Order: sequence, then C-alpha cells, then structure tokens
Amino acid sequence: MAPSVSSHPTWIELDLEAVAGNCARVIQDTATPLMAVVKGDAYGHGAVAVGRAAVRGGASWLGVARCGEARALRQAGLDTPILVLGMATGEEVDEAIASGVTLTLYSGPCLERFTARARAAGRPLAVHLKVDTGLGRLGVPVEDLVPFARQAAQAPGIRVDGVFSHLALAEEPDHPHNRVQTDRFRRGLAALEQAALRPRWAHLANSAAAFFLPETRHDLVRVANLVVGLRIRLDLPLGPGYRPALAWKARLASCRQLPPGWGVGYGQAYVTQGEEWIGVVPVGYGDGLRRGSGNQVLVGGVHCPVVGNLCLDQCMVRLPRRFPEGEEVVLVGAQGGEAIGLHDLAARYGTTQPDVCTHLHARVPRIHVGR
Ligand SMILES: *Cc1c(COP(=O)(O)O)cnc(C)c1O
Repeated sequence: MAPSVSSHPTWIELDLEAVAGNCARVIQDTATPLMAVVKGDAYGHGAVAVGRAAVRGGASWLGVARCGEARALRQAGLDTPILVLGMATGEEVDEAIASGVTLTLYSGPCLERFTARARAAGRPLAVHLKVDTGLGRLGVPVEDLVPFARQAAQAPGIRVDGVFSHLALAEEPDHPHNRVQTDRFRRGLAALEQAALRPRWAHLANSAAAFFLPETRHDLVRVANLVVGLRIRLDLPLGPGYRPALAWKARLASCRQLPPGWGVGYGQAYVTQGEEWIGVVPVGYGDGLRRGSGNQVLVGGVHCPVVGNLCLDQCMVRLPRRFPEGEEVVLVGAQGGEAIGLHDLAARYGTTQPDVCTHLHARVPRIHVGR
C-alpha cells in the first residue's frame, strides 16, 4: 500500500504552508496590505485553518460573506480585523459590535438598522461603506456616496473605517467596463477627500484585479483565489512561488480484470471492449465529483478515465494494468510528473474553481499538512 498521511478511503490534504506562502507572495507582489477572503469556508478549504495560515503569512484583514463565518473565526481565537462583505441582520449587528467585527454598510435601511443597534448597545460599530461602481450588487450609487458617507459619519455609534467596491470583469483586464468602474471609484474617493470624509481603508481589487489592474490596489487587496492557490483565470498558470493548497486523494478499493462486453455500473453506460482492468475508486457524486463525461484520476502517475456513471460513493476507472488494492488515487493534485488541478475540474464541469471546491462534501476528511 502506498505511503499516505491518511487512514481514510478518501481524504483532502490541505497544505497550510502553501497558504501562508501564497499570502506572503501576494503582499510582496502587490506591495499592498492583504485582506485574505475566507468566505464559503475558504472556498471549501476550511476557514479557520486558512485564516490562521493567512495571518501567519502576513494578512492584516480577513474577509467573510456572513456574520456566522466571522463568529467561527472569533470563536477559534482569531483576533485579526474581520470585514463581513454581505448582509447582517439586526441580531447579527449586536454580535458584531460585541466581537469587534466590521460590517458592510450599503444602503439607507442598513444604516438605520446599524444605528439603532449601536445605540442600544452603547458601543460603536465599525463599518466600511459599499459603493456600486457597476457590478449591480450591493452598494449605493457613486452620486450618493458623499451624502451617504456624511449621514453615516453623523450617525451616533457608527464609525466609518473604509469604503470599497467590487469589479464585474477583472478577469478580462482589457474590457472597457474595468475603466468605467475604476474611474467611478476614483471619482468617489476624490469627492470623499474633498468633503473630508475619506476613511482609512479604500479597496477595490480582488485576486484578478490585484494582478491585472495595479491601479485598483489602493489601501488593501481582497484576495480569496490566490490565498488557497486557485488560478486567477482558468487558462493562466499560477505565477512563480504560488502553490495550490488542496489535494484530493483516495485509495483504490478494488481492481479486477473484466471480460469483453461486460457492462460497468448503473445503466451499464460503459461496456468493456476487450479484457480490461477496471478499478473501483471510493469517491462519487456524494463527495463533490459530478456526473457527466470527462472525469479522470491519476493512478501510478497516469491519467485514467472514469467509465460509466458515477455512483453516490464510488466510481469505476479504466486502468492500464493491475494495481494493488489500496494504491493511491489522485483526484486533484500531483502524482508522478502529472497533475490534475481544480481549474481542470472547473473546465471539465463548465464552472468556476470556487464552485467546484465549495461543493467538496464535508464527509471527506480534511488532513492538514504543513503547519
Ligand atoms: C469573493 C470576493 C473577493 C475575493 O475574490 P477572488 O476573486 O476569489 O480573489 C473580493 N471581494 C469581494 C467583495 C468578494 O465577494
């Protein structure tokens, strides 16, 4: 049986040294402080472990989508500044005030809710203003930014520490919409400055913008993809020094030579041509692989196609020869000279890398390698 860090049929290895190293690289390459965005359980990699490693790598902020995600980080003992990028209900505002979490202020009703709660708590709430420069998601229009910032600055118990926006097309740096959004953001900032309302932190860049559009860096880059070593774009290899943090492995459950014309799996969707070595891998769509064609794994350093329909817990692969039960199977990661990346799965499924890795099921044990 191949040496392994795990006693499970299938498991995910998370390299926290890679996370810390990726963060240090982002800070060095952009010469800008880093907010490591760990929403969606750090895109399925584990928010607490990734958050800790990111702070070790030099991140000065953590970003999350929801207050519940901020709570998990605080409960794990992380005292780094945290920004909640999405909505906060009234009860969650109380908790944010108590635990020193910064919230996103993006509308009038939001300001009313925040002010009422801060007044009741008798303690200030820190916020970053969100301005919609052309994503059409959360935020006030640029024209309203100065009056909104003034209203917020005068609201009792509200402390405005930042202002930010988010780009719609940063992965296509030549798209003219980037210019539209960066110009609007710059105009908004200039207007805030003139009104003496410019807060400490202005930020606009996600992973792609931080690298493709240096003028978007401002005071802070908000990075998720690169922190865990996902590509900025599916077709662009990671830059030097960046490493994927996640590998997904399994052990071969069975290996049998089947006769010609033998149907494999539900629906008998695959039928052997001649005598074939068919392996059973204990991974299925209940773990985060998806049904459909094009799935493959590495066994013995060779790409092997998944044949037939995926089952919930298992799938079958066509092997070039006999392998022992327990042989290492790589679903994501490197083996021999070959590799399968999360970008390959994203391309295979016609979706994004975060979509693939936030759907890796919780029943697959996570094993931390590195610190
Ligand atoms: C998710 C998110 C980010 C991080 O995006 P990446 O492209 O994965 O780096 C940054 N800012 C906001 C507002 C986000 O929602």
